[in-house]
Amino acid sequence: METIYTIPVNDAYGSECECPLCFLKKRCEDQELEYYLGPSLMEPDTRIITNKTGFCPDHMAKLNRKVTNRLGLALVIHTHLLDYDNDISEDLSKAAPEKAGLFKGRSNDYKSALRDLADRIDKRTATCPVCDKMNKTTERYNEVIMHMFSHDNEFKQKFISRSHCLPHTASLLRTAASKLSQNDASDFVSALAQNNKECFAELEKDVEWFTLKFDYRNKEKPWGNSKNSIQRAMRFLSSDTGEFNEG
Ligand SMILES: [Zn+2]
Ligand SMILES: [Zn+2]
Repeated sequence: METIYTIPVNDAYGSECECPLCFLKKRCEDQELEYYLGPSLMEPDTRIITNKTGFCPDHMAKLNRKVTNRLGLALVIHTHLLDYDNDISEDLSKAAPEKAGLFKGRSNDYKSALRDLADRIDKRTATCPVCDKMNKTTERYNEVIMHMFSHDNEFKQKFISRSHCLPHTASLLRTAASKLSQNDASDFVSALAQNNKECFAELEKDVEWFTLKFDYRNKEKPWGNSKNSIQRAMRFLSSDTGEFNEG
């Protein structure tokens, strides 16, 4: 197993985070965002990619918040605009159908062209090299987790004691289906299910107490673990996207 993957996986499972895969995802995302605002600007090969792809709305917003390199961001956005304009504008101006008139009847021919163009724009909006890298890296981490779970007993015990958010539970289930033997899958999925069950129970209790704190009769009672229960629940439901921070 390559240590470039096993070391971070061990780090994540040894850390105090809520979901080790969210921890790994966040680290990969930060590295990628820094990369696209820094060294990659000088690399013609990468620029060819980002000119074409731009970034998805989520990563566009995250790049905007990382104000360290405004010029770099402007350069990337500028060449992306030129590429997009070049790709789409002419087809967009040709897409308007002719008006139906006295001599020209109505026609449905233009409708599929409009839909195709809309699909092309949607696809471009969603295309993102940061997402691509994060997806590929998560896939690799998942495989490493499977391997370590079935070959490294110390890691297996660590895994059993940890919980995972629901989107990462889904990705682990998917990888387990393709990578684990039936016996390993039995242990793996049982551990996953047990931790999920505990997470649901704890969050349900804490969020409920949050709502009950609004009752004047509970005003003086302690918050317990409820104060950040909404954010914790959102991170569990949606994975930690960096948007559900307390405060
Ligand atoms: Zn997660
Ligand atoms: Zn993205």
